[in-house]
Amino acid sequence: MVSLKSLHTFGLDVSARSILELREPEDFRRFLSLEEPKILLGSGSDVLFTGDFAGTVGLVRSQGLEITEDPKAWHVHAAAGENWHETVLRLEKQGIPGLENLALIPGTCGAAPVQNIGAYGCELADFCEYVEICGAGGGIRRIPRDSCGFGYRTSNFKTKWAGSLIITGIGLKLPRRWVPRLDYGPLRELKGRQDLTSRMILEEVVSVRRSKIPDPTVLGNAGSFFQNPCVPAALHGELLRRHPGMPAYPQKDGSFKLAAGWLIEHAGLSGRTLGGAQIYPRQALILVNTGSATPGDVVALAREVIHQVFDTFGVRLVPEVRILGADGEIPATDL
Ligand SMILES: Cc1cc2nc3c(=O)[nH]c(=O)nc-3n(C[C@H](O)[C@H](O)[C@H](O)COP(=O)(O)OP(=O)(O)OC[C@H]3O[C@@H](n4cnc5c(N)ncnc54)[C@H](O)[C@@H]3O)c2cc1C
Repeated sequence: MVSLKSLHTFGLDVSARSILELREPEDFRRFLSLEEPKILLGSGSDVLFTGDFAGTVGLVRSQGLEITEDPKAWHVHAAAGENWHETVLRLEKQGIPGLENLALIPGTCGAAPVQNIGAYGCELADFCEYVEICGAGGGIRRIPRDSCGFGYRTSNFKTKWAGSLIITGIGLKLPRRWVPRLDYGPLRELKGRQDLTSRMILEEVVSVRRSKIPDPTVLGNAGSFFQNPCVPAALHGELLRRHPGMPAYPQKDGSFKLAAGWLIEHAGLSGRTLGGAQIYPRQALILVNTGSATPGDVVALAREVIHQVFDTFGVRLVPEVRILGADGEIPATDL
């Protein structure tokens, strides 16, 4: 068995039967043809292993960044194994703005489309031109953005295509006409600045994130553990009567998105510890490994959160992280 402890950001003591590094198209094809249980990992920053994995883990490690330009935009092709944040920094340094709101999100470029990473009012789909994949037959092709099924923290790669293909690269389109996005929280304070640059936004995003989110190299975690739930207008109205300060965001379909962190906090769970797992006291949406957590500790704590939030608010939280069992992925709703 091979240890996975340093290959995922929760840092749990779990192993896999074998691992394969995937760099070249031939590696991708070989991995797809394996008959045993198999899963892909980039940086392992969005996964929870519930125990040892009885198969092969494919580590996506392909490298390369190509930039072309036309009068309206820069077009960037990043290989799947490139680090996302490093890519954001590299583009910024080369005078190519656009991705600054998405700085410091851990992980690889190849995993970015899977849950359509997002932060500070932007998401990958805003800049994605295509996603390059290696399919079951071994052919490599590009899927245009509009066929990727992007939504809030989701895509076809996370749902109907999960497990059937490997993302080998992403294509980004960054318009030359830069439009700063300052509508989210602390970035609003930068509005109206005449000297505003994308570098300033990037630095602000990095600084706010560092102050709020635990560094996974110090305290194991996988970022937001739960998705923000959407509830029907009737339930939202009822909850608001009982909890007048409850934050909620109206959605186009008439439902309301609630803040999962607020629900967890107001269910009295902030800082709750179970074995070596803890609800991060400064941000209740994040579950952390205080050092000695077992997969069982994290699963038990996550289940306690789901039950307690349901008992308090009648809202069922669903994990945002991918739950991995001995043979492969377990639907997040089954935790
Ligand atoms: C501290 C912290 C903060 C975070 N903040 C944010 C945030 O602000 N916004 C946000 O959206 N996310 C956030 N995340 C979650 C995470 O960073 C993203 O989901 C990221 O895209 C995961 O990348 P990864 O390479 O680590 O993927 P992994 O965790 O390795 O994999 C995630 C899923 O994608 C699949 N996958 C990975 N690579 C490929 C590939 N090449 N082809 C097909 N499938 C693949 C895996 O099988 C798995 O199902 C945060 C995580 C942490 C630890």
